[in-house]
Amino acid sequence: MSARVAVITGAARGIGAGVARRLAEDGFAIAAVDLSADSCEPVVEEIRAAGGTAMGFGIDVSDEAAVAAGIDAIASRLGAPAVLVNNAGILRDNALFRMSTSDWDSVIGVHLRGAFLMTRAAQAHMTGMGWGRIITMSSVSALGNRGQANYSAAKAGLQGFTKTLAIELGKFGITANCVAPGYIDTDMLRETAERAGITLDELHAQALPNIPVGRMGTPDDIAAAVSFFARGEASFVTGQTLYVGGGPFG
Ligand code: NAD
Repeated sequence: MSARVAVITGAARGIGAGVARRLAEDGFAIAAVDLSADSCEPVVEEIRAAGGTAMGFGIDVSDEAAVAAGIDAIASRLGAPAVLVNNAGILRDNALFRMSTSDWDSVIGVHLRGAFLMTRAAQAHMTGMGWGRIITMSSVSALGNRGQANYSAAKAGLQGFTKTLAIELGKFGITANCVAPGYIDTDMLRETAERAGITLDELHAQALPNIPVGRMGTPDDIAAAVSFFARGEASFVTGQTLYVGGGPFG
């Protein structure tokens, strides 16, 4: 039997690349999606070198036509998507009074519209197979975070979106869950530090006292949670948000 296909958006780097590597180890064939197929080459090569199957696809998840064509290309070149990890994301942080309409629209566009478009296109294949896993990256910021009105709204919205997917798609053997990371050491965090005018080390020093396990998270920490939701044995777990932040409070 050929391997089930897992589609991971934002897979060129950071958490997405970690999830792609982990799901490849778990036996999935990987469709690594990012703004360009070229940017996915390093992770695709890494997975192939380890004996796995992977292909890179350039899809802007907020572009309806690109998503439709991209999911078709994945299905014909690799196989029907069985797992979708909605992970692509951007930040446009600013205090509310300074937040531009375009800062709002871009963040909602990539996170919420992107997850909607990718999920709507992928679920058509999953319902046909009677099996599917939709795993969406929320954030501890869903609970509110200064300077992130746009991002918090999107990440909280994704949790509501996920609960509704669980209700609508359960009867087709499809589960939908969110992983909500805390501070994870990726380029996104580097950008946060830059915008705040501090170094990454200073950002770590500010964050660490509030992380009970006493360290920053890694993409592998998040990939482990995604791996659980993607398993066959997780078929009775749906509509949930798992906070993975090194502490008990989202
Ligand atoms: P990252 O910035 O390192 O990677 C994000 C990836 O998404 C990039 O490769 C980027 O090119 C891609 N991307 C952006 N817009 C896209 C689009 N329109 N179409 C396709 N791809 C697009 O970020 P990360 O830290 O790896 O975060 C991954 C996810 O986890 C995001 O949804 C983020 O909001 C979430 N998250 C991250 C943290 C953290 O601390 N790093 C915490 C909570 C949640």
